[in-house]
Amino acid sequence: MRLKVLGAYGASDAEHNLTGYLIDDWLAVDAGTLTSKLSLAQQARIQAVFITHSHADHIRDLPHLIHNRFSQNTPPLTVIAAKDVMELLYEHVFNGDVWPDFANYTSPVTGKPVVVYKTLAQGKRTVFGDASLTAIAVDHGIPASGVIIELNGQSITFTGDTGPTEEIWKRTNKANNIVAVITEASFPNDQGQLATDSGHLSPEMFGAELKKITVDAPMYASHRKIPFERDIESQIKNLRDRRARVLLEKNYTL
Ligand SMILES: [Zn+2]
Ligand SMILES: [Zn+2]
Repeated sequence: MRLKVLGAYGASDAEHNLTGYLIDDWLAVDAGTLTSKLSLAQQARIQAVFITHSHADHIRDLPHLIHNRFSQNTPPLTVIAAKDVMELLYEHVFNGDVWPDFANYTSPVTGKPVVVYKTLAQGKRTVFGDASLTAIAVDHGIPASGVIIELNGQSITFTGDTGPTEEIWKRTNKANNIVAVITEASFPNDQGQLATDSGHLSPEMFGAELKKITVDAPMYASHRKIPFERDIESQIKNLRDRRARVLLEKNYTL
């Protein structure tokens, strides 16, 4: 499995990007950074994007990814999310005010809609192309679901933004051949209260989450807040869990 990390931060500036991941060039997880780092040809290869939750830093590029489909000779983009997350996207984003609901428009190139929506039931494994996806609710103060993706005999867990959580770790521990876990550490340890109040993790809390995971695979902390990225990195190293590392904006082969 190839994982292209387009954005690994919980904030953005000229050198740091919002959450966006691409697996094997065709399956994306979150859309904070997709159009802004991919050519139109690369965007056209994306068949589906799983959205963990509706916060702006995870959907910033989604309206533009859909809009760019109008000029591309490619099947509709499938937006995948848990039911409660999708309801928030319908209500607050694709509502005709912030952005049109492009599922109602037909591409002049393909004669088909440019986007289709696929809602997932919590905890139920759903096949999409060569992959299967299982959405699992996490703890972030609003409807939010991580996902376990299985592809070609490998599995990877993405929690998206979350505070301390349980169910997705139980499912990760039972999953087939986990090759990586992508979770978060947003704030440094001295801002642990802010992390708790906002449904995020500090490195210390990230370390406590790792103790719930029995799998021996790399565990990546994403979504660092930019001013604290070095502090968070050294605090992750100090956990002395050899699985623990920070997620970087680069291509991984898992
Ligand atoms: Zn976020
Ligand atoms: Zn969030």
